[in-house]
Amino acid sequence: MFSVSSWPKAIAHIDADAFFVECERATNPYLKDRCVATGKERGIITALSYEAKAKGIKRGMMVYEAKRICPEIVIIESDYEKYSLFSIRMFDILRRFSPVVEEYSVDEAFMNLTGLRRLYHSSYEKIAKTIQETIKRELDISVSIGIAPTKVLAKLGSKLNKPYGITAIKAKEIHIYLKNIRVEDIWGIGKNTAALLYKFNIKTALDFANQNEYFIRRYLSKPYIAIYKELKGESVIPIDEKSKTSYKSISKAKSFHKAINDKDILLGELINNLEKACQKARRYKLAAKRLIVFLKTDDFKTYTAKIKLKTASNIPNILTDSLKSGFMSIYKENTSYRQTGVALAELTTKTMYDLFDNIDRIKKANNLYEAVDKINATYGTKTIRLARSDMAVEKKKGRKKPNVTIMKDIKV
Ligand SMILES: [Mg+2]
Repeated sequence: MFSVSSWPKAIAHIDADAFFVECERATNPYLKDRCVATGKERGIITALSYEAKAKGIKRGMMVYEAKRICPEIVIIESDYEKYSLFSIRMFDILRRFSPVVEEYSVDEAFMNLTGLRRLYHSSYEKIAKTIQETIKRELDISVSIGIAPTKVLAKLGSKLNKPYGITAIKAKEIHIYLKNIRVEDIWGIGKNTAALLYKFNIKTALDFANQNEYFIRRYLSKPYIAIYKELKGESVIPIDEKSKTSYKSISKAKSFHKAINDKDILLGELINNLEKACQKARRYKLAAKRLIVFLKTDDFKTYTAKIKLKTASNIPNILTDSLKSGFMSIYKENTSYRQTGVALAELTTKTMYDLFDNIDRIKKANNLYEAVDKINATYGTKTIRLARSDMAVEKKKGRKKPNVTIMKDIKV
């Protein structure tokens, strides 16, 4: 019933292990090897480490219950922005190996590896191992990978050897794997369908794959026929390269108790927002391809300017001109504003330079900001800022001269 070739196609499913907790650990070494869970903000466990799982703690449990079971557990607030930034970098690593990548969820992807054995001079298992090690080395998070001739089988495979496992399901060996998998554990088969299948004594994935197609068509709808074919090793569900996980920007905003209409102050606040957003982007080694500027008026209307950038960047100086023109396109003289904000969107790990960009200038700015980040990390985040954003702060306070300006508008 199954194919004779081992790899008619090679589809990989990459699934991060305890993803939220691993992102927290990668940014805070104190959490390594400890029982850790996220969800402090709502009082419900949303994600947990394998150590916590081993103690019997489960997702959805109340925080106080978890503490009763495991008093030493460290419970932290979820930081979804952080997780999505790790996610972008993980997908970018995958795209180095194959251009055909589907971002299935924040911590899961499908990719097509078919034909890459020749390019990498190694087996699909070894390619998967290299992908796994690259993600571990660069992001310090662990992923499990399933490789198989179809998406449905690859998705089953990534679960079989968690954490930090690799499972390669060759076409000839599919039946060995399927006999140990319950129908309700197949991707796309829900409780109701499983209950129906049980009535026909179809309990394992192998039972399901062994039915004749007539039976499947008689009792189930179209999506299940696709699952049935994929279980047998026939690839019919394509990799959707267009699907993107939704949240992909870094935003920083500032609200005012008293509405403001002074152009200089507003622009200064926006530059301040921009610096904070850029600092975060640099920390995660990401650059924006689009800059979004927004102003919220006293009567709660939001005006937004979206600027497509010629060069992906995370350097305030490079982005200031775009910020100003965006601001000028939405600012109105006789309106008061409650909030300013900046979002860095279409984040990427690549900083691509246009042929006409002044590369020297960009490199100088990059070096400068590396130094700025180091100083701010040592002496506090506000030690060095653009003069403009300081002036805004001081002007708002009613002081004539800024007393903490350290860096003038840098000319690079
Ligand atoms: Mg996962």
